[in-house]
Amino acid sequence: MVSPMARVPVVGGNWKMNLARSAARDLLTTLRGTLDGLEGVGVLLFPPAPWLGDAHDVLEGSSLRVGAQNAYWEQKGAFTGEVGPAMLQGTATHVLVGHSERRILFGETVWETGQKMRAVCAAGLTPVLAVGEPLSDRRSGRTEAGLRRQLTEGMRGITSMPEGFIVAYEPVWAIGTGEAATPEDAQARCKFLRGLIAERYGDDAGEAVRIQYGGSVNAENAASFFAQPDIDGALVGGASLDADAFAAICRAAAAS
Ligand code: PEP
Repeated sequence: MVSPMARVPVVGGNWKMNLARSAARDLLTTLRGTLDGLEGVGVLLFPPAPWLGDAHDVLEGSSLRVGAQNAYWEQKGAFTGEVGPAMLQGTATHVLVGHSERRILFGETVWETGQKMRAVCAAGLTPVLAVGEPLSDRRSGRTEAGLRRQLTEGMRGITSMPEGFIVAYEPVWAIGTGEAATPEDAQARCKFLRGLIAERYGDDAGEAVRIQYGGSVNAENAASFFAQPDIDGALVGGASLDADAFAAICRAAAAS
């Protein structure tokens, strides 16, 4: 059950496949020093899988949370190279599902995304479901139909909204390109997604779900997104590798 409440924005740092172990530990230590206890924002870090244990150890006892960038849909078994959500328990609290790099580079289908969502929820972890339209959908006016499909298939079989659930709206054309959506455009899409959640899980869930914008967010443009009523933080790629930039984004969210 989800209760309606004022939404606290959440900023996620998706490190993707970057940083050697020592650099990752240094960044974790710096971010803990800068952001621990910052009120008015949740801070979530998604380091590469081999550094999840380090992230847990460095951040333990702080207000910063650890998320995995991906997980498989089985909890254990003969699946060489994969990681089951249950194996993340005690190390990560969140799992990113359906990032566009998974969908596009690794051919992850909406069915697979749904499988992963169900497995993450079954393991008691909090999913962050990333959705977003490719440029072709945008140009042909199919953005909302595509978002609806990604959300519907991603949530298939999940009968009540997971506690703490986060949706990341990330237009594919804005990821890593330096070409962010306009705040107004991102707001319209996030509002649409909130409506889909309300349609599926009720108005309280629609009010409670946190919807991030992601796509070339940086220290300079972050506040313009956070000023929008339906944008509850950001999922940050490139700028999350820079401690000062990421901290500035988190502070902008806290001040919003
Ligand atoms: C991302 O990887 O989710 C992302 C939004 O990347 P960037 O901030 O670099 O566009």
